[in-house]
Amino acid sequence: MNIHEYQAKQLFRDFGLPVARGAVAKTPAEIDAALAQLPAGKIVVKSQIHAGGRGKGKFTDGFAGGVKIAASPAQAREYAGKMLGNTLVTHQTGPSGRKVQTVFFTEATDIAKEYYLAILLDRAASLPVIIASTEGGMDIEHVAAHTPEKILRRHVDPALGLRSFQAREIGYRLGLGDEQVKQFVKLLDGLWKLFWEKDCAMVEINPLIVTPAGQVEALDAKVSFDDNALYRHPDIQALRDLNEEDPKEIEASKFSLNYIALDGNIACLVNGAGLAMATMDIIQYFGGKPANFLDVGGGATEEQVTAAFRIILSDPAVKGILVNIFGGIMKCDIIARGVVAAARSVQIKVPLVVRLEGTNVQLGREILAQSGLAITPADSLADAAKKIVAALKN
Ligand code: ADP
Ligand code: MG
Repeated sequence: MNIHEYQAKQLFRDFGLPVARGAVAKTPAEIDAALAQLPAGKIVVKSQIHAGGRGKGKFTDGFAGGVKIAASPAQAREYAGKMLGNTLVTHQTGPSGRKVQTVFFTEATDIAKEYYLAILLDRAASLPVIIASTEGGMDIEHVAAHTPEKILRRHVDPALGLRSFQAREIGYRLGLGDEQVKQFVKLLDGLWKLFWEKDCAMVEINPLIVTPAGQVEALDAKVSFDDNALYRHPDIQALRDLNEEDPKEIEASKFSLNYIALDGNIACLVNGAGLAMATMDIIQYFGGKPANFLDVGGGATEEQVTAAFRIILSDPAVKGILVNIFGGIMKCDIIARGVVAAARSVQIKVPLVVRLEGTNVQLGREILAQSGLAITPADSLADAAKKIVAALKN
């Protein structure tokens, strides 16, 4: 789960990290009250979306910059008015962009130097890793690709936690002065505690800055959480912003369906994540593009299969459906009945190819054949993929 910068900064404050004051507005009517909470002077107006690269982003109406420095409250008001309700496109949002539904106002800080700092999980090493770089404020993927030597990586042993010598070493390697290293050690200690105690998948500060007066401060904040641990953190769950999520994915989660929208046009309905991956691969292999990943689980019920069809069909990009079910825990005849009932109740108007395999497969195929529905049966995964790709070409 992702949260907004303003929420991440509140967590930073809770863990003792230095961040400037700020206030949010979700409607134009809230702008003045938010600005009144900030001291007079330069104010940064920041679009709140679950994507980075906002500073260099552009709105669909041509307005440039999802992060703007305003010289006065009047200018901040004007910028916020342009951002709220507008759609921001950044290199992370994809071409359709994200609608800005919250703006965050914060004090503008003078910057002497920008750094990059993050903690995330190194899956290859099965350890948390601290990533730091003197090349802050930029796209870190770009730094990693072109100047990998400028990226510092240090693992943290979870049994020991972050040790102060590690934090000092990173601080000195970033070239910080003695006084800044002291501030940095305290900051990194708080960041580690946040990462660990809240079961984060990633905490990232880009840029972490040093001011001309020598103060270390987090100017940006990005935090994401391990969904499997969210049940332990009701306070974090409360930060979820459904506006930032795909409505189809929200609906799917209500039925315990594992659904992820993709940008192709062949919808897949599969039981088991491995089989779903294989199905997506083989669709691509035969020249098609999957519209989604959808795992209905090993013991899918008729209700779940119906919900799955409804979610799939609510996507106007879907031009065909491939159902690929292995009857192991569930027998094929039961699944076939579920598919038929679901197909009847949601009225499928696009080509539907069904491949069943496993226990009672013969019976399952008969049920499909006798349903009177326009279902194309398939004998194998390759046969199914070829048939759905061919159906879309016609
Ligand atoms: P994003 O990473 O989405 O582009 P940031 O919060 O990093 O958004 O903002 C982009 C840039 O704007 C930063 O790299 C920094 O140079 C500048 N900036 C952001 N917040 C402030 C601030 N409070 N004061 C001064 N400059 C800022
Ligand atoms: Mg940033």
